[in-house]
Amino acid sequence: MTKHLYRTLTWPEARARAKQGAVIIIPVAAIEQHGYHLPIDVDNVLVEHITEEAARRSEGHILTAPMIHYGFNEHNMGFPGTITVREYVFIDFCYDVAHSFVRQGFDRIVYVNGHGSNQMLCNLAARRINNTTRALAGAVAHWALAKDAVDRLRESEFPGGMAHACEFETSLYMYLKPELVEKDKITARETPSRVNAFIYDDLFGSGPVHMVNRWSRITETGVEGDPQLATPEKGYEFAECSIRNLIHFCGLFRAQIVAPERDFNHTNEQLD
Ligand SMILES: [Zn+2]
Repeated sequence: MTKHLYRTLTWPEARARAKQGAVIIIPVAAIEQHGYHLPIDVDNVLVEHITEEAARRSEGHILTAPMIHYGFNEHNMGFPGTITVREYVFIDFCYDVAHSFVRQGFDRIVYVNGHGSNQMLCNLAARRINNTTRALAGAVAHWALAKDAVDRLRESEFPGGMAHACEFETSLYMYLKPELVEKDKITARETPSRVNAFIYDDLFGSGPVHMVNRWSRITETGVEGDPQLATPEKGYEFAECSIRNLIHFCGLFRAQIVAPERDFNHTNEQLD
């Protein structure tokens, strides 16, 4: 069977897979509080399952890299358990990892992210790859790939019902590691993100104004959303939807044509 985890390759195998044009997935997550009822590794566990399963089922087209475990989390430092990496350090780190793949000849890189505050930074790291190398890089949050299943199964209100340690994340963790969910500690819903008509937060659509407050100012438990509505059955459907869409996207990304770059500046005019 073709290896699907980058860390298990020998260096000649890594060279061969770069030559074959494997798409590299870089999973990105965070260690942070997830309320009273979930462990601090939620983002790691969810993104690891989705990215490794996608690679395993892709018949060699996708290689999943070792995960970037820590994320940008300054807003959550009021809660024990949380680890943060400064935003510029994080962007540089994510870029350097992807750039190392590009130097080997891999030319399709996807950051698959499991922590909201990482997203804009992963987007920037991907854009830096596109602006400075011949490779193509993109970034996606795994929940965005589960939208079809969420549209079908979601019971929590919008916006605010799915944001953090919520119906979505709790369902997935219940499916993947049920023994670690402290069900009796699931609290009544907290939707502190609905500040006004312009500022609100949800995994499936935030308000027009981007404003992330310090978490301890707005929540007692660390939860944002309604984990009472979580079930492992929903978690299974969310995960399968993300995995399917990730495999589909990587196929399209592999086939995406790269047109030659042009320079229309007058400084590039041929002298005759
Ligand atoms: Zn999370």
